[in-house]
Amino acid sequence: MVVDPDDTPVGTGGLLTGLGSVRTSSWLTSAAIHLCLLIVLAVLTYRLGGNERGISIDGSVSSPGADVEFETIQTEAQQASSDAPSFDQPVNVPLVETSTSDAATSIAVTSITAPDQAYQVNDLATADLKSGSSPANTAMQTFLGGGGMSARTPEGRKKYGDLYGATAASETAVENALRWLAAHQRSNGSWSFDLSLDPCDGQCGNSRKVDDDTPTPATAATGLALLAFMGAGYTSDVGPYQETVTRGFYYLKSAATESESGYDWQQSGSMYGHGIAMMALSEALGMTQLNDRYDSDLLHFVERGALFTTIAQHPNGSWGYTPASPGDTTVTGWQLLSLVGARKAGIPLPSTTFPKTKAFLMSVREEPTYQFGYNTPEPRRTTTAIALTLMMYLGQTPGNTLFDEAVDQLASAGPKRTDVYHDYYATMALHHWRHPGWEKWNTALRDHLVQTQATQGHEAGSWHFKDPWGDIGGRVYTTAMCTLILEVYYRFLPLYEKPSDFPL
Ligand SMILES: [Zn+2]
Repeated sequence: MVVDPDDTPVGTGGLLTGLGSVRTSSWLTSAAIHLCLLIVLAVLTYRLGGNERGISIDGSVSSPGADVEFETIQTEAQQASSDAPSFDQPVNVPLVETSTSDAATSIAVTSITAPDQAYQVNDLATADLKSGSSPANTAMQTFLGGGGMSARTPEGRKKYGDLYGATAASETAVENALRWLAAHQRSNGSWSFDLSLDPCDGQCGNSRKVDDDTPTPATAATGLALLAFMGAGYTSDVGPYQETVTRGFYYLKSAATESESGYDWQQSGSMYGHGIAMMALSEALGMTQLNDRYDSDLLHFVERGALFTTIAQHPNGSWGYTPASPGDTTVTGWQLLSLVGARKAGIPLPSTTFPKTKAFLMSVREEPTYQFGYNTPEPRRTTTAIALTLMMYLGQTPGNTLFDEAVDQLASAGPKRTDVYHDYYATMALHHWRHPGWEKWNTALRDHLVQTQATQGHEAGSWHFKDPWGDIGGRVYTTAMCTLILEVYYRFLPLYEKPSDFPL
């Protein structure tokens, strides 16, 4: 049972490197060259419908009975919006990495049309996903039942806040944080990790770390900020920040880059930017449905974005910094949760996506424990917190002794307090698990965040901690993540309570 005791970054690039930089290790350079070749090959092969080189996108399905149908992916020259800024370098991703001759190179693409409002449960009905789960509590029930967003109402915030441990002070902290975020929205609707830009103009400290040529995609900053607003129930249609949220999503839509394989929000950053933006868009789509609204425009963006995400998955089941590159637990976390959101909003996905993701997580697990590594089985606390959360979304249920032990260890180790990346995921895992150590965990972290929120000047309502990733993402990143932690009580209903309580 190795639990990494220190707070050192994980892996060569660190957990949040994708927010601040693109790793330049030799494999990446090699991969970049390789991918350039593959782009041409993949697109050509795809258009020819052949698979001589092992690239296979076809209508085959891995599980009999899955209702999928291949539909040609359309090439749209049309930009996302007539008012969109120019993104003149659309990215073609290689449809499938080929050189590994991995068995899982066949992607069944469902027809991407208007979603069937009834969930297509066969996607998750594979035996693999149920391994280790309690027979009485199937993966399907928990996945479709729990985790919903229906508590994001004033009444829900009160009810579930009281139930799971919010306080008046923590709720005030959430509102103060959202006020700070709203005040730092840029004129084009985006947020930037760079606080030297308007409207802050450097009045707040702890901007993102500025060095060399590290891209910090505004799509990631904007996605994080929008997630924080929506976590409190504030949308384009509901609450005091309708204009703020509307402008934020307008920006994200305008920032979509069209490619052969759907919409892409990497914005010269990395797949982090895409995954975080997609998570915000998917949640927004789900919330419009909760509010009995139908937003065909938003639906279109989520469909096309989810298509890009699924095609950008590496055959080993992970997502990396660049599409279809071998990835890691952290980048994979954002992509998977964005797809879970899309799925819950009714977007059909390839039947292989989730099982492959689980296979990747199991490949970085230190057997027989459920401690997880970054892209190897060398376990770390933060990657373990991420992977445990993802495994719960993938259907892992209580009853597996070793998995339960890992969650117990997460709780007993307590929050790191200055590493919001770890604490965000660990808090989600313990909330979803309704872990008996929740009250102790929550009290410590909640009160720590309430006490450390800035109260003076331009920074009032924000947070910053000196940790490797906090420095890279800066105050915007830290504030959004801390807000999401303090919204945990009502942001998602727990995965492991009565499914019938959760309509979405
Ligand atoms: Zn400021």
